[in-house]
Amino acid sequence: MKALVYGGPGQKSWTDVPDPTLHSPTDAIVRVDTTTICGTDLHILKGDVPAVAVGRILGHEGVGTITEVGSAVSNLKVGDRVIISCIKSCGHCGNCSNGLYSHCLGDEGASGIGWVFGHLIDGTQAEFVRVPYADNSLHKLPEDVSDDQGVMLSDILPTGFEIGVQYGRVKPGDVVAVIGAGPVGLAAIATAGLYGAANIIAIDLDENRLERARDFGATDTVVSGAADWKEQVLALTDGAGVDVAIEAVGIPATFTMATEIVRPGGNIANVGVHGQPVDLHLENLWIQNINISMGLVNANTTKMLLKLVASKKLQAEKLATHHFTFDQFLEAYDTFSRAAETKALKVVITR
Ligand SMILES: [Zn+2]
Ligand SMILES: [Zn+2]
Repeated sequence: MKALVYGGPGQKSWTDVPDPTLHSPTDAIVRVDTTTICGTDLHILKGDVPAVAVGRILGHEGVGTITEVGSAVSNLKVGDRVIISCIKSCGHCGNCSNGLYSHCLGDEGASGIGWVFGHLIDGTQAEFVRVPYADNSLHKLPEDVSDDQGVMLSDILPTGFEIGVQYGRVKPGDVVAVIGAGPVGLAAIATAGLYGAANIIAIDLDENRLERARDFGATDTVVSGAADWKEQVLALTDGAGVDVAIEAVGIPATFTMATEIVRPGGNIANVGVHGQPVDLHLENLWIQNINISMGLVNANTTKMLLKLVASKKLQAEKLATHHFTFDQFLEAYDTFSRAAETKALKVVITR
């Protein structure tokens, strides 16, 4: 089969590799019908994630059709159309029992981490993928949910909702600011209303992305390049700051921004993947009673979010801005890596 293979920092190829096979009775093999590229894949290609070995097939998002199941897979069968969760979970280890799928202790990858695809085992940017713990790591797709919609449920929507909105403890009436209106920031914006946010302020350097943020439910937008960006945000609150500041970029400057606009007693939910340390001014923040959260998605809300996508309460398909076929994989990477110019949110790649 063909797959997108990591060749070391700065190197990738769409090339021939052996087809995956079942390793364990709980595995399934899925023919990938649709996949996409994540900012995390670009981090890997920069060499920021040394755990990714040369030769690894990248990708942790996808929708596909089951072609083979192990003898212990009980809820799924050949021919089922499924969402591949970016997090594998055995469903019964100590962490899975507590809903902490992100730290599933099942031995696949042997590291106590749920994110294995395109990281510790071969991923979804391929014609076929082996999925461990298939019963719990795959979600059957109803017929009326498209591939474009389904693929946003692998990672983006659960990440924005769980790590942004839930960890940020959004509650009815809150003013929520989302710093960074890329795909995950937009997913947080799209789901903040589920917990009753009264106002959602999107903050970004890119005016095009702010325009898109309004499509997903932002009530206000602030251009972060403006000298008075902070005053603009505070003016959209009672003057004391936002109840929840969601950081969805992953650089020190945007984390600091979150600390500057949150009100006393408020929450900072860090969603961005950081590649370097941030300044954390505990000497100022402690007296403000600020809660700071962060994490890797558990994807334990995927089934719930799927229902909202199916009932058209969440417009997942609007995140798909560009479409490619598998033989255009390198072009898809190029478009996604130049998102500011190409206005790409998610690039969708289909077989
Ligand atoms: Zn991702
Ligand atoms: Zn587990």
